[in-house]
Amino acid sequence: MAGGVGAAKFVRGLALTVDQRRLDVIVNTGDDETFYGLYVSPDLDTITYTLADVVNRGPGWGLAGESFNALGALTRFYGKPWFGLGDKDLATHLYRTDRLRQGASLSRVTAEIARRFGVRASVMPASDDQVRTFVKVKGLPTMPFQQYFVKRRFRGAVETIELKGVATASPCPAALRSIRQAAAVIIAPSNPFVSIGPIVGIKKLREALRSARDRVIAISPIVGGKSVKGPADRMLRGLGHEVSPLAIARLYRDLAGTFVLDNIDAKYLEPVRGLGMRAIAADTVMATAERAASLASVVLDSLAR
Ligand code: GDP
Repeated sequence: MAGGVGAAKFVRGLALTVDQRRLDVIVNTGDDETFYGLYVSPDLDTITYTLADVVNRGPGWGLAGESFNALGALTRFYGKPWFGLGDKDLATHLYRTDRLRQGASLSRVTAEIARRFGVRASVMPASDDQVRTFVKVKGLPTMPFQQYFVKRRFRGAVETIELKGVATASPCPAALRSIRQAAAVIIAPSNPFVSIGPIVGIKKLREALRSARDRVIAISPIVGGKSVKGPADRMLRGLGHEVSPLAIARLYRDLAGTFVLDNIDAKYLEPVRGLGMRAIAADTVMATAERAASLASVVLDSLAR
């Protein structure tokens, strides 16, 4: 189960460890947004581009070797852009929007896009229904996730996070089937509130995870008292949690039987075990593809122990 850039690093490691065809990646759509009338699914695209090995490695999103001519030309009509959409990337959004308008489901279109990029893993949204993440920051009205994350660069103290539509969303059938049948279900090191929250907030997926708990492994996105990147630490603090892997483990204790934290946080192994989870320490900072692959091996081996 995956959000965007953090998850994609892990998924890449996994794809180097097991045959891509054995992987189902269930992806967050709470960050989806419409720009210039185009339906943009940032996390789905980040996962797809990463698995296709065409991602822009620096930022970890978008396509390698992009130009931004169309975005520049759009400034004439829409003013200064704050969301980066490259020229080649726009083709993906045009295709997705066109197919959705024709009545295809998001899961169908996602599979089509992945196939056209040569991805052999199954990439799927958690739901074909609309789930949208909104963030309330101190002193400001509630805003859609991308405004908080990209436009405002996640400044400010987070007061609430709202996942609109999650309570009534149905899971994508393939996602439900996958959780029920997979040898291992891995919650990638993603933001627990805004990346994994919109997935596990879907009732049937949550129930399926609970039933599969012994096969579910979660990896901490908090390392050494902070996020490796992004606002997960601020969100934990703002929502009244401590900023530690233990706080993440508490969020997942019902869903995951095994929890992986970083070697640097080994002191939390026993407290995590105290929550009734198996706990493992590993090198979780995926600075290279090789390190991501060894983390993937550790995670998969943990079930065999
Ligand atoms: P993003 O917001 O698009 O990056 O998507 P995600 O929600 O998938 O990933 C964000 C989370 O991944 C953040 O909380 C990061 O701390 C975490 N993260 C990013 N890179 C790494 C890494 O190499 N190791 C670990 N353990 N966590 C990471």
